Amino acid sequence: MSETLLQVENLKKHFPIKGGILQKQVGEVKAVDGLSFVVKKGETLGIVGESGCGKSTTGRLITRLIEPTEGKIIFDNQEITKLSTNEMRKLRREMQMVFQDPFASLNPRHTVEKILEEPLIVHGIGNTKERKKLVQEMLEVVGLSSYHAKRYPHQFSGGQRQRIGIARALMTKPKLIIADEPVSALDVSIQSQVLNLLEDLQKEFQLTYIFIAHDLGVVRHISDRVAVMYLGRMVELSDSENLYKKPLHPYTRALLAAVPIPDPDYVKEDTLLTGDIPSPSNPPTGCAFHTRCSECMEICKTDRPDFREIESGHYVACHLYDK
Ligand code: SF4
Repeated sequence: MSETLLQVENLKKHFPIKGGILQKQVGEVKAVDGLSFVVKKGETLGIVGESGCGKSTTGRLITRLIEPTEGKIIFDNQEITKLSTNEMRKLRREMQMVFQDPFASLNPRHTVEKILEEPLIVHGIGNTKERKKLVQEMLEVVGLSSYHAKRYPHQFSGGQRQRIGIARALMTKPKLIIADEPVSALDVSIQSQVLNLLEDLQKEFQLTYIFIAHDLGVVRHISDRVAVMYLGRMVELSDSENLYKKPLHPYTRALLAAVPIPDPDYVKEDTLLTGDIPSPSNPPTGCAFHTRCSECMEICKTDRPDFREIESGHYVACHLYDK
């Protein structure tokens, strides 16, 4: 079994809700509420769920772009939750993010060369000449050309901009890339090109990915394992093949019913997801999914199901599998 690169233990992020004239805390949004998982070196873990399930917050917590309320993050045998801002800045060389909207995350007033050179300057990598060479090389690696270096982000298509976002993330030769909906803003025809590029880069640079998406269809091809999140918690985690062939949690089944699965062995459920995701500031009692679950039982309304390993490597939080 390959080595663990990232270990997350009981990770929580509760955002305070303030109200009244004195702006006192009147509640909290439990965006992430007790996540524990590991990511092995070289694997891709897909994290999936509807918007508001906490998946993007999870990505930002792991890179400490936001601070956790509770829990541990151990990256490459080092507990990073305890690192100072300065130590964390150095460590960010090893873990980079790719964002959904490359246009918003690329400075419109900077040339591509400047955008790609910046992480090298921040981390003190190379002199001016060496940095320019690294930028030229990286442009080729992500399928752009060296003449693109002098252009500005608005001069590129959406797919090309995402290639620039990926190039920027790779400049410091990170070990872990957290890609937060990296293809959601792109046309379907361009999505597969960017996904193929990410797969090729993973092999070339031995990268480990956390791939966040709202759609189980998108992560299927790229993920070794998939975690499904609902209201700040994991409800199912399994290797990719098993999850798509034999989804256990009613929420996963409903998500799968919404995407076309080109697999003759997969028998599609007709359970489509109905209703909105409840507010994480006032989550339902018991199983948080019970207000939308077609298989809800009495116990589901009062008792929260444990996240348990039902089959080897296949975890689920659902009373349907209580012994
Ligand atoms: Fe549905 Fe109950 Fe399972 Fe929750 S625990 S997913 S409500 S069957």
